[in-house]
Amino acid sequence: MKKVDYIIVGFGIAGVSLSGQLLRRGNNFVVVDHPRHSATRTAGGVVNPVVLKGFTAAWNAKEFLSYATPFYSELEKHLSSKFINEVDILRVFSSYEEQNQWLVASDKRELSTFLSSKIYSDHTTNWINNYGYGKVHQAYQIDTKQLLRDFALHLSKIEQYRSEVFNYDDLEIGDNEIRYGNLSARKIIFAEGASVLSNPFFPTDAVLPKKGEYITIHAPGLQLKSVLKGPFFVIPMGKDQFKVGATFAHGDDTLEITDKGRSQLVLGLQKILHIPFEVIDQEAGFRPTVKDRKPIVGNLPENENIYFLNGLGTRGLLMAPLIAKWLLDYSEEQIEILDEVNLKRFFT
Ligand SMILES: Cc1cc2nc3c(=O)[nH]c(=O)nc-3n(C[C@H](O)[C@H](O)[C@H](O)COP(=O)(O)OP(=O)(O)OC[C@H]3O[C@@H](n4cnc5c(N)ncnc54)[C@H](O)[C@@H]3O)c2cc1C
Repeated sequence: MKKVDYIIVGFGIAGVSLSGQLLRRGNNFVVVDHPRHSATRTAGGVVNPVVLKGFTAAWNAKEFLSYATPFYSELEKHLSSKFINEVDILRVFSSYEEQNQWLVASDKRELSTFLSSKIYSDHTTNWINNYGYGKVHQAYQIDTKQLLRDFALHLSKIEQYRSEVFNYDDLEIGDNEIRYGNLSARKIIFAEGASVLSNPFFPTDAVLPKKGEYITIHAPGLQLKSVLKGPFFVIPMGKDQFKVGATFAHGDDTLEITDKGRSQLVLGLQKILHIPFEVIDQEAGFRPTVKDRKPIVGNLPENENIYFLNGLGTRGLLMAPLIAKWLLDYSEEQIEILDEVNLKRFFT
């Protein structure tokens, strides 16, 4: 029997953040993950503190961002990897009215560090910006595939990562011990993203999977180093490749890539690109959203050793590091979790 402090089920950005925290704290743990339906793997990788539709700050953006960036940098060092870069997001305007809304927003205290107070315009680019664009500062781009690959490899080498499907029927729950196969743990944390709906221990149906699709294009003429936000995000991936997305496919509960998603993205792109491009890949994933748009963190009232971290929605990369800290502060130091994100809010 291998004794550990924690078993973590799922290794998307939630499992990554929990693992990073546990390494930092010196707790031992084993991750069980089967990367079938990983939103993190599909994600565009943009860490964006601003809501780019209405020009408002994302919930708790400053606190999440100031925790997340040193967390990722420290993880890069620990793994001898390179997966995060600071990047500007260029928000392309579609009218003079939008320009004005941007300028008003950039004057607000909570947004002034993020939004440029200047409107830019550049007619030498291969993307259309007839009404100019604003810049979001302090945004980041994470190569999520690289992060997952390097971290899983590191944990595998120290025998803390198992690539297998977690079978809920095999879990044995004692008063002070959780057993799973040859593992004996103090606690278990479920972090399975939208797949948590198949977890018989998850006590609510509050997680709503929202499908999104991306295409990857090859566009050698598009000299773009920043992230572009027009009808969709256009995200530079290197080697003249760009990820374009993501759609919101309401009511589609399959993970199939679709012609509809692809043509929506191609049409959106044609509105802002002057140059030819070729679609070379297409992916789909489920965002684990929640009706009140807040993550879900906490444990079961009837078994305090069973924890959940979920509901990271559309901004998992921004929020996950601090949310994981909140979970472990509670689990190890009994520091209460904020009501707004506490799993308890669904027990009434
Ligand atoms: C198309 C799309 C684009 C997005 N773009 C961005 C973006 O640019 N920026 C951003 O911040 N967020 C983005 N998001 C949201 C972000 O991806 C999610 O908030 C985040 O990835 C959720 O992380 P998670 O760890 O909770 O779940 P996931 O990443 O889904 O990870 C869950 C893991 O658990 C595994 N698992 C599940 N059940 C089991 C089981 N029984 N046994 C073993 N393993 C299991 C899964 O296979 C997976 O590996 C995007 C999402 C989508 C779908």
